Amino acid sequence: MAILTLKRKLAILSDAAKYDASCASSGSVKRDSLGGKGMGSTDGGMGICHAYAPDGRCISLLKILLTNFCVYDCAYCVNRVSSNVARARFSVDEVVDLTLGFYRRNYIEGLFLSSGIIRSADYTMEAIVRVARTLREVHDFRGYIHLKVIPEAAPALVEQAGLYADRVSINIELPKDESLADLAPEKDAAGIKKAMGAVRVSEDASREKGRKARPPRFAPAGQSTQMIVGADDATDGAILKRSESLYGAYRLRRVYYSGFSPIPDSTARLPLARAPLVREHRLYQADWLMRFYGFARAEIVGEAEDLDLAIDPKLAWALKNRGDFPVDVNVADRERLLRVPGLGVRTVERILEIRRFKQLELADVKRLSRGIEKLKPFLVCADWSPGALIDRADLRRRIEPQQLDLF
Ligand code: SF4
Repeated sequence: MAILTLKRKLAILSDAAKYDASCASSGSVKRDSLGGKGMGSTDGGMGICHAYAPDGRCISLLKILLTNFCVYDCAYCVNRVSSNVARARFSVDEVVDLTLGFYRRNYIEGLFLSSGIIRSADYTMEAIVRVARTLREVHDFRGYIHLKVIPEAAPALVEQAGLYADRVSINIELPKDESLADLAPEKDAAGIKKAMGAVRVSEDASREKGRKARPPRFAPAGQSTQMIVGADDATDGAILKRSESLYGAYRLRRVYYSGFSPIPDSTARLPLARAPLVREHRLYQADWLMRFYGFARAEIVGEAEDLDLAIDPKLAWALKNRGDFPVDVNVADRERLLRVPGLGVRTVERILEIRRFKQLELADVKRLSRGIEKLKPFLVCADWSPGALIDRADLRRRIEPQQLDLF
Protein backbone atom coordinates (compact mmCIF):
# COMPACT_ATOMS: atom_id res chain seq x y z
CA MET A 1 0.00 0.00 0.00
CA ALA A 2 1.30 3.44 -0.95
CA ILE A 3 2.48 5.58 1.94
CA LEU A 4 0.41 8.74 2.16
CA THR A 5 1.87 12.09 3.08
CA LEU A 6 0.38 13.89 6.06
CA LYS A 7 -1.04 16.49 3.67
CA ARG A 8 -2.80 13.82 1.60
CA LYS A 9 -4.20 12.18 4.74
CA LEU A 10 -5.47 15.55 5.88
CA ALA A 11 -7.15 16.12 2.51
CA ILE A 12 -8.90 12.73 2.66
CA LEU A 13 -9.85 12.75 6.32
CA SER A 14 -11.06 16.34 6.47
CA ASP A 15 -13.17 15.80 3.36
CA ALA A 16 -14.60 12.62 4.91
CA ALA A 17 -15.54 14.55 8.06
CA LYS A 18 -17.58 17.17 6.21
CA TYR A 19 -20.72 15.01 6.34
CA ASP A 20 -20.92 15.41 10.10
CA ALA A 21 -22.81 18.59 10.93
CA SER A 22 -22.65 18.30 14.69
CA CYS A 23 -19.75 20.51 15.62
CA ALA A 24 -21.00 23.88 16.88
CA SER A 25 -19.18 24.40 20.14
CA SER A 26 -21.60 26.29 22.30
CA GLY A 27 -21.80 26.27 26.04
CA SER A 28 -18.33 25.21 27.09
CA VAL A 29 -16.66 26.30 30.29
CA LYS A 30 -14.29 29.24 30.08
CA ARG A 31 -10.73 27.97 30.01
CA ASP A 32 -7.66 29.75 28.77
CA SER A 33 -3.87 29.89 28.83
CA LEU A 34 -3.49 33.29 30.47
CA GLY A 35 -0.46 33.50 32.71
CA GLY A 36 1.55 31.25 30.43
CA LYS A 37 -0.14 28.09 31.67
CA GLY A 38 -1.09 25.49 29.11
CA MET A 39 -2.04 26.07 25.52
CA GLY A 40 -5.25 27.13 23.82
CA SER A 41 -8.48 28.64 24.93
CA THR A 42 -12.18 28.07 24.53
CA ASP A 43 -12.85 31.81 23.96
CA GLY A 44 -13.17 32.69 21.23
CA GLY A 45 -7.86 25.99 5.04
CA MET A 46 -8.07 22.43 4.92
CA GLY A 47 -9.75 20.53 7.74
CA ILE A 48 -10.93 23.72 9.39
CA CYS A 49 -14.62 24.10 9.98
CA HIS A 50 -16.26 27.29 11.05
CA ALA A 51 -19.00 26.43 13.45
CA TYR A 52 -21.50 28.97 14.68
CA ALA A 53 -22.58 28.80 18.27
CA PRO A 54 -26.15 29.86 19.15
CA ASP A 55 -24.73 33.06 20.68
CA GLY A 56 -23.38 34.00 17.25
CA ARG A 57 -19.68 33.33 17.93
CA CYS A 58 -17.79 31.80 15.07
CA ILE A 59 -15.42 29.08 16.23
CA SER A 60 -12.81 27.44 14.04
CA LEU A 61 -12.17 23.77 14.65
CA LEU A 62 -9.89 21.24 13.07
CA LYS A 63 -12.57 18.81 11.91
CA ILE A 64 -11.21 15.46 10.90
CA LEU A 65 -11.69 11.71 11.09
CA LEU A 66 -9.05 9.57 12.73
CA THR A 67 -9.67 7.22 9.82
CA ASN A 68 -12.23 6.71 7.09
CA PHE A 69 -11.61 2.97 7.03
CA CYS A 70 -14.72 1.38 8.48
CA VAL A 71 -15.83 -2.18 9.06
CA TYR A 72 -19.52 -1.19 9.10
CA ASP A 73 -21.66 -0.94 5.99
CA CYS A 74 -24.14 1.88 6.61
CA ALA A 75 -25.79 2.35 3.21
CA TYR A 76 -26.03 6.16 3.51
CA CYS A 77 -22.34 6.66 4.34
CA VAL A 78 -19.57 7.29 1.85
CA ASN A 79 -17.06 5.65 4.22
CA ARG A 80 -18.88 2.32 4.51
CA VAL A 81 -16.78 -0.80 4.01
CA SER A 82 -18.23 -1.46 0.54
CA SER A 83 -17.56 2.08 -0.72
CA ASN A 84 -14.86 2.66 -3.28
CA VAL A 85 -13.19 5.77 -1.84
CA ALA A 86 -9.59 6.70 -1.10
CA ARG A 87 -8.78 5.64 2.47
CA ALA A 88 -6.40 7.05 5.02
CA ARG A 89 -5.63 6.75 8.70
CA PHE A 90 -3.93 9.12 11.10
CA SER A 91 -1.92 7.90 14.03
CA VAL A 92 -2.80 9.31 17.45
CA ASP A 93 0.43 11.36 17.44
CA GLU A 94 -0.33 12.80 14.02
CA VAL A 95 -3.71 14.13 15.17
CA VAL A 96 -2.12 15.56 18.33
CA ASP A 97 0.68 17.25 16.32
CA LEU A 98 -1.74 18.63 13.73
CA THR A 99 -4.00 20.06 16.43
CA LEU A 100 -1.11 21.72 18.25
CA GLY A 101 0.49 22.93 15.01
CA PHE A 102 -2.76 24.47 13.72
CA TYR A 103 -3.42 25.99 17.10
CA ARG A 104 0.04 27.59 17.31
CA ARG A 105 -0.51 29.10 13.86
CA ASN A 106 -3.79 30.51 15.13
CA TYR A 107 -5.83 28.59 12.55
CA ILE A 108 -8.08 26.85 15.05
CA GLU A 109 -9.53 27.08 18.52
CA GLY A 110 -10.21 23.41 18.96
CA LEU A 111 -10.61 19.91 17.59
CA PHE A 112 -13.61 17.94 16.35
CA LEU A 113 -12.64 14.30 16.07
CA SER A 114 -14.71 11.45 14.70
CA SER A 115 -13.77 8.14 13.10
CA GLY A 116 -14.79 5.18 11.04
CA ILE A 117 -14.69 1.95 13.02
CA ILE A 118 -11.50 -0.04 12.70
CA ARG A 119 -11.12 -3.50 14.20
CA SER A 120 -13.76 -2.87 16.87
CA ALA A 121 -15.70 -0.12 18.57
CA ASP A 122 -13.44 -0.36 21.66
CA TYR A 123 -10.21 -0.26 19.66
CA THR A 124 -11.37 2.87 17.81
CA MET A 125 -12.81 4.61 20.85
CA GLU A 126 -9.62 3.95 22.79
CA ALA A 127 -7.60 5.70 20.04
CA ILE A 128 -9.99 8.68 20.02
CA VAL A 129 -9.70 8.99 23.81
CA ARG A 130 -5.90 8.72 23.58
CA VAL A 131 -5.79 11.77 21.30
CA ALA A 132 -7.77 13.84 23.80
CA ARG A 133 -5.84 12.53 26.80
CA THR A 134 -2.48 13.32 25.18
CA LEU A 135 -3.62 16.83 24.29
CA ARG A 136 -4.90 17.52 27.78
CA GLU A 137 -2.40 15.70 29.98
CA VAL A 138 0.85 15.82 28.02
CA HIS A 139 0.43 19.20 26.30
CA ASP A 140 -1.96 20.90 28.73
CA PHE A 141 -4.16 21.85 25.77
CA ARG A 142 -7.03 24.02 26.97
CA GLY A 143 -8.81 24.53 23.65
CA TYR A 144 -12.16 23.06 22.77
CA ILE A 145 -12.44 19.32 22.11
CA HIS A 146 -15.50 17.63 20.66
CA LEU A 147 -15.31 13.85 20.47
CA LYS A 148 -17.63 11.57 18.59
CA VAL A 149 -18.60 8.64 20.77
CA ILE A 150 -19.07 5.19 19.28
CA PRO A 151 -22.19 3.88 21.01
CA GLU A 152 -21.02 0.25 20.98
CA ALA A 153 -17.82 1.12 22.87
CA ALA A 154 -17.32 0.03 26.47
CA PRO A 155 -18.95 2.43 28.99
CA ALA A 156 -15.56 3.02 30.67
CA LEU A 157 -14.17 4.43 27.41
CA VAL A 158 -17.22 6.67 26.93
CA GLU A 159 -16.71 7.91 30.48
CA GLN A 160 -13.08 8.74 29.71
CA ALA A 161 -14.09 10.59 26.53
CA GLY A 162 -16.33 12.83 28.64
CA LEU A 163 -13.53 13.56 31.09
CA TYR A 164 -11.29 15.01 28.38
CA ALA A 165 -13.83 16.49 25.94
CA ASP A 166 -15.89 19.65 26.19
CA ARG A 167 -18.64 18.04 24.20
CA VAL A 168 -19.42 14.49 23.14
CA SER A 169 -21.88 13.45 20.50
CA ILE A 170 -23.51 10.17 19.61
CA ASN A 171 -25.27 10.13 16.27
CA ILE A 172 -28.84 8.86 16.29
CA GLU A 173 -28.33 8.69 12.50
CA LEU A 174 -31.91 8.29 11.24
CA PRO A 175 -35.30 9.45 12.51
CA LYS A 176 -36.87 5.98 12.49
CA ASP A 177 -35.50 2.87 14.19
CA GLU A 178 -36.80 0.72 11.30
CA SER A 179 -34.77 2.78 8.82
CA LEU A 180 -31.65 2.34 10.91
CA ALA A 181 -32.18 -1.43 11.02
CA ASP A 182 -32.67 -1.45 7.25
CA LEU A 183 -29.85 0.90 6.19
CA ALA A 184 -27.26 0.38 8.95
CA PRO A 185 -27.51 -3.30 9.90
CA GLU A 186 -24.58 -3.25 12.35
CA LYS A 187 -26.08 -0.37 14.32
CA ASP A 188 -28.67 -0.73 17.00
CA ALA A 189 -31.09 2.06 17.95
CA ALA A 190 -31.50 0.71 21.49
CA GLY A 191 -27.73 0.67 21.98
CA ILE A 192 -27.42 4.25 20.74
CA LYS A 193 -30.07 5.42 23.20
CA LYS A 194 -28.46 3.45 26.01
CA ALA A 195 -25.12 5.19 25.35
CA MET A 196 -26.86 8.59 25.32
CA GLY A 197 -28.48 7.70 28.64
CA ALA A 198 -25.09 6.77 30.13
CA VAL A 199 -23.66 10.13 29.02
CA ARG A 200 -26.56 11.91 30.66
CA VAL A 201 -26.03 10.02 33.92
CA SER A 202 -22.33 10.98 33.92
CA GLU A 203 -23.21 14.60 33.13
CA ASP A 204 -25.71 14.72 35.98
CA ALA A 205 -23.21 13.17 38.39
CA SER A 206 -20.56 15.76 37.49
CA ARG A 207 -22.99 18.57 38.27
CA GLU A 208 -24.29 17.12 41.49
CA LYS A 209 -24.18 19.70 44.24
CA GLY A 210 -23.66 19.12 47.94
CA ARG A 211 -21.00 16.43 47.66
CA LYS A 212 -17.90 16.91 49.76
CA ALA A 213 -15.49 15.76 47.06
CA ARG A 214 -16.00 17.69 43.82
CA PRO A 215 -16.86 15.17 41.08
CA PRO A 216 -14.64 15.20 37.97
CA ARG A 217 -15.81 17.45 35.15
CA PHE A 218 -17.65 15.62 32.38
CA ALA A 219 -18.37 17.10 28.93
CA PRO A 220 -19.27 20.58 30.24
CA ALA A 221 -20.71 21.56 26.86
CA GLY A 222 -23.03 18.55 27.04
CA GLN A 223 -23.95 16.08 24.34
CA SER A 224 -25.41 16.54 20.89
CA THR A 225 -26.52 14.30 18.06
CA GLN A 226 -27.06 14.31 14.33
CA MET A 227 -29.96 13.06 12.25
CA ILE A 228 -29.80 12.52 8.52
CA VAL A 229 -32.79 14.06 6.76
CA GLY A 230 -34.19 12.73 3.51
CA ALA A 231 -32.49 9.31 3.45
CA ASP A 232 -35.73 7.63 4.48
CA ASP A 233 -39.40 8.55 4.21
CA ALA A 234 -39.70 10.12 7.68
CA THR A 235 -41.87 13.23 7.67
CA ASP A 236 -40.70 16.48 9.27
CA GLY A 237 -43.25 15.81 12.01
CA ALA A 238 -41.70 12.41 12.74
CA ILE A 239 -38.19 13.91 12.71
CA LEU A 240 -39.16 16.65 15.16
CA LYS A 241 -41.03 14.18 17.34
CA ARG A 242 -37.83 12.19 17.65
CA SER A 243 -35.88 15.37 18.48
CA GLU A 244 -38.46 16.33 21.10
CA SER A 245 -38.08 12.97 22.79
CA LEU A 246 -34.26 13.09 22.61
CA TYR A 247 -34.16 16.56 24.18
CA GLY A 248 -36.44 15.38 26.96
CA ALA A 249 -34.87 12.00 27.70
CA TYR A 250 -31.16 12.79 27.35
CA ARG A 251 -31.10 16.57 27.81
CA LEU A 252 -29.23 17.01 24.54
CA ARG A 253 -27.82 20.45 23.89
CA ARG A 254 -28.60 20.17 20.25
CA VAL A 255 -29.91 17.98 17.47
CA TYR A 256 -28.23 18.68 14.13
CA TYR A 257 -30.09 17.99 10.90
CA SER A 258 -27.96 16.94 7.97
CA GLY A 259 -29.62 16.72 4.56
CA PHE A 260 -28.88 13.41 2.86
CA SER A 261 -26.53 13.73 -0.14
CA PRO A 262 -26.61 10.94 -2.70
CA ILE A 263 -23.36 8.96 -2.67
CA PRO A 264 -21.70 6.90 -5.42
CA ASP A 265 -22.78 3.28 -5.89
CA SER A 266 -25.47 3.51 -3.28
CA THR A 267 -28.38 1.16 -2.85
CA ALA A 268 -31.67 1.69 -4.71
CA ARG A 269 -33.32 2.05 -1.27
CA LEU A 270 -31.82 5.54 -1.04
CA PRO A 271 -33.14 8.57 -2.92
CA LEU A 272 -31.30 9.78 -6.01
CA ALA A 273 -31.65 13.48 -5.20
CA ARG A 274 -30.42 15.34 -2.14
CA ALA A 275 -32.91 16.75 0.33
CA PRO A 276 -33.61 20.44 -0.43
CA LEU A 277 -31.48 22.73 1.73
CA VAL A 278 -34.54 24.70 2.73
CA ARG A 279 -35.90 21.57 4.43
CA GLU A 280 -32.91 21.49 6.77
CA HIS A 281 -33.39 25.22 7.36
CA ARG A 282 -37.07 24.85 8.28
CA LEU A 283 -36.25 21.94 10.61
CA TYR A 284 -33.68 24.09 12.42
CA GLN A 285 -36.26 26.88 12.73
CA ALA A 286 -38.86 24.47 14.14
CA ASP A 287 -36.24 23.03 16.50
CA TRP A 288 -35.51 26.55 17.80
CA LEU A 289 -39.22 27.13 18.36
CA MET A 290 -39.28 24.03 20.58
CA ARG A 291 -36.13 24.94 22.51
CA PHE A 292 -36.37 28.70 22.92
CA TYR A 293 -39.90 29.84 22.08
CA GLY A 294 -42.04 27.54 24.19
CA PHE A 295 -43.69 25.64 21.33
CA ALA A 296 -44.55 21.97 21.64
CA ARG A 297 -43.79 19.93 18.53
CA ALA A 298 -47.47 19.09 18.02
CA GLU A 299 -48.30 22.81 17.73
CA ILE A 300 -45.80 23.21 14.90
CA VAL A 301 -46.41 20.12 12.79
CA GLY A 302 -48.41 16.90 13.03
CA GLU A 303 -46.45 13.67 13.16
CA ALA A 304 -47.52 12.69 9.64
CA GLU A 305 -46.99 16.15 8.13
CA ASP A 306 -44.10 18.08 6.61
CA LEU A 307 -43.23 21.68 7.36
CA ASP A 308 -44.29 24.35 4.90
CA LEU A 309 -41.12 25.09 2.91
CA ALA A 310 -42.36 28.48 1.68
CA ILE A 311 -42.76 30.20 5.04
CA ASP A 312 -41.13 29.86 8.43
CA PRO A 313 -42.84 27.59 10.96
CA LYS A 314 -43.73 30.41 13.35
CA LEU A 315 -45.54 32.35 10.66
CA ALA A 316 -47.23 29.14 9.49
CA TRP A 317 -48.46 28.59 13.06
CA ALA A 318 -49.65 32.20 13.40
CA LEU A 319 -51.60 32.07 10.15
CA LYS A 320 -53.40 28.96 11.38
CA ASN A 321 -54.09 30.50 14.79
CA ARG A 322 -55.23 34.00 13.91
CA GLY A 323 -57.61 34.03 16.86
CA ASP A 324 -54.54 34.47 19.12
CA PHE A 325 -53.69 37.79 17.41
CA PRO A 326 -53.16 40.70 17.44
CA VAL A 327 -50.90 40.79 20.50
CA ASP A 328 -50.52 44.07 22.38
CA VAL A 329 -46.81 44.75 22.59
CA ASN A 330 -47.29 46.96 25.67
CA VAL A 331 -49.28 44.43 27.70
CA ALA A 332 -48.61 40.85 26.54
CA ASP A 333 -46.38 38.58 28.61
CA ARG A 334 -43.08 37.19 27.31
CA GLU A 335 -44.61 33.88 26.20
CA ARG A 336 -47.21 35.58 24.00
CA LEU A 337 -44.71 38.02 22.52
CA LEU A 338 -42.42 35.13 21.59
CA ARG A 339 -45.22 33.73 19.43
CA VAL A 340 -45.44 36.83 17.24
CA PRO A 341 -43.89 36.18 13.81
CA GLY A 342 -40.87 38.43 13.36
CA LEU A 343 -40.10 38.85 17.08
CA GLY A 344 -36.99 36.97 18.18
CA VAL A 345 -35.88 36.25 21.75
CA ARG A 346 -33.59 39.29 21.97
CA THR A 347 -36.20 41.65 20.54
CA VAL A 348 -38.75 40.42 23.07
CA GLU A 349 -36.28 41.00 25.92
CA ARG A 350 -35.69 44.57 24.67
CA ILE A 351 -39.44 45.20 24.41
CA LEU A 352 -39.95 44.04 27.99
CA GLU A 353 -37.14 46.32 29.19
CA ILE A 354 -38.25 49.40 27.26
CA ARG A 355 -41.92 49.21 28.14
CA ARG A 356 -41.10 49.54 31.84
CA PHE A 357 -40.63 53.24 31.23
CA LYS A 358 -42.50 54.03 27.99
CA GLN A 359 -45.38 52.89 25.79
CA LEU A 360 -44.00 51.38 22.60
CA GLU A 361 -45.15 52.79 19.28
CA LEU A 362 -44.84 51.14 15.90
CA ALA A 363 -41.65 53.10 15.15
CA ASP A 364 -40.06 51.71 18.34
CA VAL A 365 -40.82 48.13 17.29
CA LYS A 366 -39.55 48.92 13.79
CA ARG A 367 -36.20 50.02 15.24
CA LEU A 368 -35.92 46.79 17.26
CA SER A 369 -36.97 44.34 14.56
CA ARG A 370 -35.77 43.49 11.10
CA GLY A 371 -39.00 43.80 9.12
CA ILE A 372 -42.03 45.70 10.35
CA GLU A 373 -44.32 44.78 7.43
CA LYS A 374 -44.31 41.14 8.50
CA LEU A 375 -45.09 42.13 12.07
CA LYS A 376 -47.83 44.69 11.53
CA PRO A 377 -50.80 42.31 11.09
CA PHE A 378 -49.99 40.58 14.38
CA LEU A 379 -49.27 43.52 16.69
CA VAL A 380 -51.02 46.27 18.59
CA CYS A 381 -48.83 49.24 19.61
CA ALA A 382 -49.66 52.56 21.32
CA ASP A 383 -50.32 54.14 17.91
CA TRP A 384 -51.16 51.08 15.79
CA SER A 385 -53.89 48.50 15.48
CA PRO A 386 -54.09 46.14 12.50
CA GLY A 387 -57.90 46.26 12.41
CA ALA A 388 -59.19 43.67 9.96
CA LEU A 389 -55.73 43.02 8.47
CA ILE A 390 -55.27 39.87 10.54
CA ASP A 391 -58.44 38.35 9.01
CA ARG A 392 -57.64 39.09 5.37
CA ALA A 393 -57.83 36.05 3.12
CA ASP A 394 -54.73 37.20 1.22
CA LEU A 395 -52.60 37.79 4.34
CA ARG A 396 -50.20 34.97 3.55
CA ARG A 397 -49.65 36.24 0.00
CA ARG A 398 -48.94 39.75 1.32
CA ILE A 399 -46.32 38.50 3.79
CA GLU A 400 -44.73 35.59 1.94
CA PRO A 401 -42.21 37.58 -0.14
CA GLN A 402 -40.61 38.89 3.06
CA GLN A 403 -40.03 35.38 4.35
CA LEU A 404 -36.26 35.24 4.14
CA ASP A 405 -35.65 36.09 7.78
CA LEU A 406 -35.68 33.50 10.52
CA PHE A 407 -38.40 34.59 12.92
S1 SF4 B 1 -20.10 3.42 11.26
FE1 SF4 B 1 -21.46 3.70 9.50
S2 SF4 B 1 -21.78 5.94 9.44
FE2 SF4 B 1 -19.96 5.59 10.73
S3 SF4 B 1 -18.21 5.71 9.33
FE3 SF4 B 1 -18.78 3.56 9.43
S4 SF4 B 1 -20.17 3.23 7.71
FE4 SF4 B 1 -20.04 5.45 8.08
